[in-house]
Amino acid sequence: MAVLGSAQPDGVPQAAPVEAEATVAARARMVREQIAARGIKDVRVLEALGRVPRHEFLPSSQRLRAYEDGPVPIGEGQTMSQPYIVAFMSAALELKPTDRVLEIGTGSGYQAAVLAELAAEVFTIENVEGLAWRAEGDLKRLGYGRVKVRVGDGYLGWPEAAPFDAIIVTCAPERVPEALVQQLKVGGKMIIPVGPQNGDQELYLLRKHKAGMETKAVLPVRFVPMVKGL
Ligand code: SAH
Repeated sequence: MAVLGSAQPDGVPQAAPVEAEATVAARARMVREQIAARGIKDVRVLEALGRVPRHEFLPSSQRLRAYEDGPVPIGEGQTMSQPYIVAFMSAALELKPTDRVLEIGTGSGYQAAVLAELAAEVFTIENVEGLAWRAEGDLKRLGYGRVKVRVGDGYLGWPEAAPFDAIIVTCAPERVPEALVQQLKVGGKMIIPVGPQNGDQELYLLRKHKAGMETKAVLPVRFVPMVKGL
């Protein structure tokens, strides 16, 4: 497991703490009943959701809700998406172990950890500073320190690290941001909810071709809005 061991006072390293059986079982059940049973078949995605300790990315007041079938509040008026949505979006990108991925909307860092299980490099942008720092700390603590977290405006993307094989947006703009389209490789995929604030939104799967973008609506959803600026 990816939890770091702590050193004892005499410097002898302790074994990594063993995760409670109850959370291991709750997570296995989440994968079986909420995700596999609803048709997600990608084994790498199922394994990734089985490995990442979702409860560790939640404020302590919300931890008991980690394996519920719904979104969970993470503070600052934001939420961690329902496990099924995380799995659905991760599977839609068909990530390869060599891929470089950009996420917009770090939130708790949970989705970024799932991406880190599936791809080589993960870049994630969050515009609420407090959430970004907390997520960065949790990612490091849990062994996902190679995920790069930036406080910034997702509408601008991460030009210095572009182009990306895949882009995942976990907040909803009213239109697909042009900078993100530009920062996607030809042949790359983007999964993004689009629609009015707090209204009906649609999850789109986009694929960039030399000749332009292919766009497919894949699921009706409701995400927090993608806000402009910091
Ligand atoms: N992926 C997250 C859930 C994200 S909720 C997880 O796994 O926990 C959506 C996040 O998008 C919120 O944290 C919100 O602050 C952030 N957000 C909204 N507008 C943004 C913008 N313009 N740029 C970057 N992040 C943004």
